Amino acid sequence: MSDWENTVRCISPYVPGEQPKEKDIIKLNTNENPYPPSPKVREAIEAFKYGDLRLYPDPDASELVKGIADLHKSKPSQVFVGVGSDDVLSVAFLTFFYSDRPVLFPDITYSFYDVWAKVYNIKYETVPLNGEMHINADDYLRVNGGIVLANPNAPTGVLESVDDIEKIVSGNPGSVVIVDEAYIDFGGESCLPLVKKYDNLLVVRTFSKSHSMAGIRIGYAIGSEKLIKYMNDVRFSINSYTMNRLTIACGAAELSDPDNFRSNCDKVVRTREYAKNALKRLGFEFPDSKTNFIFAKHETVSADLIFGELKKRKIYVRHWDKPGIENYLRITIGTSTDMRKLYDALSAILGVKEVQL
Ligand SMILES: *Cc1c(COP(=O)(O)O)cnc(C)c1O
Repeated sequence: MSDWENTVRCISPYVPGEQPKEKDIIKLNTNENPYPPSPKVREAIEAFKYGDLRLYPDPDASELVKGIADLHKSKPSQVFVGVGSDDVLSVAFLTFFYSDRPVLFPDITYSFYDVWAKVYNIKYETVPLNGEMHINADDYLRVNGGIVLANPNAPTGVLESVDDIEKIVSGNPGSVVIVDEAYIDFGGESCLPLVKKYDNLLVVRTFSKSHSMAGIRIGYAIGSEKLIKYMNDVRFSINSYTMNRLTIACGAAELSDPDNFRSNCDKVVRTREYAKNALKRLGFEFPDSKTNFIFAKHETVSADLIFGELKKRKIYVRHWDKPGIENYLRITIGTSTDMRKLYDALSAILGVKEVQL
């Protein structure tokens, strides 16, 4: 080890789902949307003047911020935008979690939270989910330096009620509560209306899942003007131009077509409800999902074995070797054709002769 390595900021990074290079695979491992974004996005790309790339983008991404503010009937000064919600969450951690008290989040949740806590030297404690994989709101009514909850939660797919979240937000006036709503558009009730009542609530959203735009990297947060101002101060102390010109144009175009968005979400939800039945018949159990994935465990066969066998058949799902969830597979909802192939593969792997689906 070199001397200078003693003073390096060392960290085990977050490991995202595999992005295999092969073409003919069925990709159900990173919760991408199987349908494309609005055709308006294609028009925006075609209309984009490549010569404009020589100019810096608008540091405030005003066009995109206005679209988001209009969508949620809030003020542009209540909107923060970033390079995917990972960027937004990372800035929020850096801005708001700055005390000696521990930040709280569930023991089973988005596995980026503890990575940000570590890289920014934030003290944290995880709080166990109950047997049904739900949170217990009362567990979060104790001394803390902030709270972060994914709702619906990942990788479980479980939705908490707005009442439970409100109990946590109102019971913690001394901390910022971040609610990560990456999957809220697939049938959950949003906490956004609470933003009007509580200046310590930050709601985070992404274009990556419900808006079918994981490849362009847009995330945002809605909160009180005070919260957003603090976040922008931190962001502009690191990088003034996070949102590039093409991204801003594509994001604004996507928001101009709510019908395509709604119809994509509806299709995913319909396929998910069908998948719940199909997986049950194949012997899987899972907490009820309000997202675009199902977190499923087979009654007899190990997740590790199913994961490997599916991969051999070029079907990618997600599996964590983490104690407590090592027997679960997180299966993204694809098109109904993708899902049909998944059920066929699972029937073969599990030796189920004929599944009546
Ligand atoms: C996918 C996901 C994100 C990150 O999404 P981006 O692509 O960075 O916008 C954040 N939180 C949760 C819970 C997610 O599942």
